[in-house]
Amino acid sequence: MAYKQSYGKQPPEVLEKEHAVVEGIDLPGHWNRMFGTRVITDYDLSTLDQITDLPGGESLGWCYQCAKCIGVCPVDIVGDYGPRKIHRDVQRGISLLDDPNLWLCTTCMNCLRVCPKAVDMIQIMPAAREAAINEGKAIPPELQKVFEATDRYGNPLGENPRKRADWIKDAGVPVPIVAQVKRPVDVLWYVGSYPSYHPRGIDAARALARIFHALRVDFAILGVEEREDGDSIRLAGEKGLAEKLTEENIKIFGKYKFNRLVVFGPQSTTPSRTSTRSTGARTRCFTTRSSSRSIWIG
Ligand code: SF4
Ligand code: SF4
Repeated sequence: MAYKQSYGKQPPEVLEKEHAVVEGIDLPGHWNRMFGTRVITDYDLSTLDQITDLPGGESLGWCYQCAKCIGVCPVDIVGDYGPRKIHRDVQRGISLLDDPNLWLCTTCMNCLRVCPKAVDMIQIMPAAREAAINEGKAIPPELQKVFEATDRYGNPLGENPRKRADWIKDAGVPVPIVAQVKRPVDVLWYVGSYPSYHPRGIDAARALARIFHALRVDFAILGVEEREDGDSIRLAGEKGLAEKLTEENIKIFGKYKFNRLVVFGPQSTTPSRTSTRSTGARTRCFTTRSSSRSIWIG
């Protein structure tokens, strides 16, 4: 007698006979197990098309569920989040734009590093988030707060923009403000929002100021003129706000003459390169261990 056995949440349908005789040999039980034909067109593919039609979202359609990304994703232990699960849900007809998991990916790139199909969450997630925002979908309240604070105050922490350079008072060394220097400098240091306001970031900013002095670097900062670089805002899907920040920064950078722009973290490198392209300056990234970010300068 043939019987069917469902297999996990997602069949394939498993077909077994109690006995099957093949070329005179009796194959009992699971030795004659077969998988039923899977009809992929039974799925609602509109939710997959919704993402793969977005510029940057194409590679979501390439996932073949190998699961290599699971072990490297730092968010995989949160709720039922997981890069492979996201792909599977979308393939099964669940809209990513309505899924709370849309906002959990940190765009750390770990999954892309190991993915044999080059499924690129660093492109997919910002594209899907931008589409969700444009369609007026619900976004996490804390993220909404960050967008509003960045738009209003020029930093995601919602701090007073006039206090952006307060950290230099206790730096232990003079930290020149480029508008007050009134001459070209070799290095314009883009400090960034967290090193300007957050206690741990301020420690790192003061440490770098002392290093610049020890190395006799001719540097200055933008001070209260500086605005958030907007890279995290772009990755979170608020592309319009990110572009507005870039335009503002282009204007500010364009006011001064400098040979090199030094930024404090890799996340600032791309927007700063864009903002300083017209000035001809080179962008260098300098991060310290105390800021818990990767380190490179060059
Ligand atoms: S590693 Fe790539 S192909 Fe494999 S499950 Fe993850 S996203 Fe899909
Ligand atoms: S990019 Fe997103 S999905 Fe990929 S490993 Fe990082 S947090 Fe996980």
